[in-house]
Amino acid sequence: MSYRVLAVSAALVALTFTLSARAQQPVAAPAPAAAEKPLPGLDLSSIDLAADPCKDFYQYACGKFNANHPIPPDQADADAFYVLYNVNTARLNTILQKAEAGGAARTADEQKIGDYFHACMDTAALDARGLKPIQPLLDRIVALKKSPATLAALVGDMQRNSIEAFFSYGEQQDFKDASKQIAYIQQGGLGLPEKDYYLRTGDKDVELRKQYVAHVAKMLTLSGEPAAQAQKEADAILALEAALAKASLGVVDMREPEKTYHLVPVATVQSALAGFNFAAYEDAIHSPRVTEINNATPDFLPELARLLKSTDMATLQAYLRYHLLTAVARNLPHQFDDENFNFYSHTLNGTQQQRPRWKRCSASVDAAVGEALGKLYVEQYFAGDSKAKMLEMVHDIEAAMGRDIDQIDWMSAATKARAHEKLAAVANKIGYPDKWRDYSMLTISRDDALGNQLRASAFENDRQLNKIGKPVDRGEWDMSPPTVNAYYDPSMNDINFPAGILQPNFYDQSEDAAVNYGHIGAVIGHELTHGFDDEGRKFDAKGNLDNWWTPDDLKNFTTRTDCLVKEYSSFDAGAADKPADDVKVNGALTLGENTADNGGLFLAFMAYMERAQQQHLDFAAKVNGFTATQRFYIAYAQNWCANTRPQAVRSLVLTDPHAPDRIRVDGVIVNQPGFAGAFGCKVGTPSVPQNSCRVW
Ligand SMILES: [Zn+2]
Repeated sequence: MSYRVLAVSAALVALTFTLSARAQQPVAAPAPAAAEKPLPGLDLSSIDLAADPCKDFYQYACGKFNANHPIPPDQADADAFYVLYNVNTARLNTILQKAEAGGAARTADEQKIGDYFHACMDTAALDARGLKPIQPLLDRIVALKKSPATLAALVGDMQRNSIEAFFSYGEQQDFKDASKQIAYIQQGGLGLPEKDYYLRTGDKDVELRKQYVAHVAKMLTLSGEPAAQAQKEADAILALEAALAKASLGVVDMREPEKTYHLVPVATVQSALAGFNFAAYEDAIHSPRVTEINNATPDFLPELARLLKSTDMATLQAYLRYHLLTAVARNLPHQFDDENFNFYSHTLNGTQQQRPRWKRCSASVDAAVGEALGKLYVEQYFAGDSKAKMLEMVHDIEAAMGRDIDQIDWMSAATKARAHEKLAAVANKIGYPDKWRDYSMLTISRDDALGNQLRASAFENDRQLNKIGKPVDRGEWDMSPPTVNAYYDPSMNDINFPAGILQPNFYDQSEDAAVNYGHIGAVIGHELTHGFDDEGRKFDAKGNLDNWWTPDDLKNFTTRTDCLVKEYSSFDAGAADKPADDVKVNGALTLGENTADNGGLFLAFMAYMERAQQQHLDFAAKVNGFTATQRFYIAYAQNWCANTRPQAVRSLVLTDPHAPDRIRVDGVIVNQPGFAGAFGCKVGTPSVPQNSCRVW
């Protein structure tokens, strides 16, 4: 699996706050579909009773997980998300096989998902066709030499097909007026995960860049170039991308909306990109001609313009050729697919084996036409009162947040009133959209996997850019219904829980409330808290970037978030999985997620206690040997039991705004006032330190 943004994502991804970076990515296990089973709500087999919960709670709740969940060779890690992801993938596959075989009686959506899957599975056809399906694009890259002025249109066409080329362009809600949909342009064009991969000087990074160059050279060689020429071009591509990286913002800066919001007349962008025909580009990517645009990373464009002028044509051509090949590798002859896996999954993340094709094709259909597939998924797996029951829990947790705002002593009445206003305006989106996406204009062919990929990407990019200048559709979702993840969107001010995560073990109607509030309750609290973390708190009830804090309250807030930055920066990333030895948890990068983890569990606990008291629950009564509050905390911790390859830990610590899994347990537990009582831990033990941090 790779950690790159999925092909059809056109949003400013940095500004929707998700639960887990990895759960967005396609992953799978080698077991046959029938063997995929969800984990139990309270997974007794993972608990290590020999460990002391007051010393190391992760070890206590998850200590036996690794022994029972070896990492399958085709995964970068094994955890609760992956188990459920595999369950869902098997379910999707059953739906897809039926749609594939359905014949003439199929609905329009069944034709699309069934034929997309069928074409994707036909690897013999991919091998037989070679590079023929991308020959028109390859020819246009060759033709650049004679007609360099066509570069802008070519870049627009490539980006429309979700092929990385120099920068990115898309649609977003205006940060300062969330009722408006505008265009943005921002840094991009890299083949490695982010800026610092090009700049760090440690041995591992030097080696990784060598491996990247070898990979790029191999892809170019496979496409027919002589090896020596390919090697030379790969070196030049690295140098070009390193220059783009140098002009880019880093992952921490990209989290700050003020740094990525610069609404300017389009002429500003045109002159920054002097020599690049921006109007021809807009036409090619099917953007309306805009008058103003968010120049999200303004330092980037002048450097890009300079590089486009100063880089020799052969290098620009090789760069475009490589990015075309890697973007469509999964639908090219298997040598390309294998080499792409070798670098992005094996080298970067340690995965040993490519996933079976049926799993990858099931995931591809979900990524391409997720609401056509998702409609059938929710009919079978999210029916009855599932939505109503979830909504009840969401309301419980929102009520807890309201009480929390009332109770905290560091915020003035004026700011509390604004916080309540924002909380009351949060829209709760559960399971699936009220209105399904219309794919009728998208052509899916039964025998053209690569064409399907490109057409689906173009369809999605057109759909996004078509929003510019139009009213906002607040019913829209950024994740497909089968996705095992959740997110908060600050411009929408909504929390979103796809049906894919509202399944055992995260949510199980047969389990007691302690377990469900610990699992999915903490997830709900996490997303809700994102509206009030260091980034979310900058947006108001309407989703506008607007400071609603008094100076004193903001100072108090920052004192509290600084506490988390310091606390998390002191955690050893290697503690999650030893060999990530040369990297540390980045407390600033992970601040929003850590705030959400801590606040989310706190709110879930408040909500659970309220409900349990209303129901006169006997708190001393044990189930499976654990009291209710013990079950609550164990269930929470077991959201994050994980067995992760060292390469993947390293990639995540360097790029992911979420802390490593072990720290999502131990780092959160130390800040929870309810924990000591649940396990009888004394103040001063590692799980209950003298000093802790609390924001929400
Ligand atoms: Zn999050």
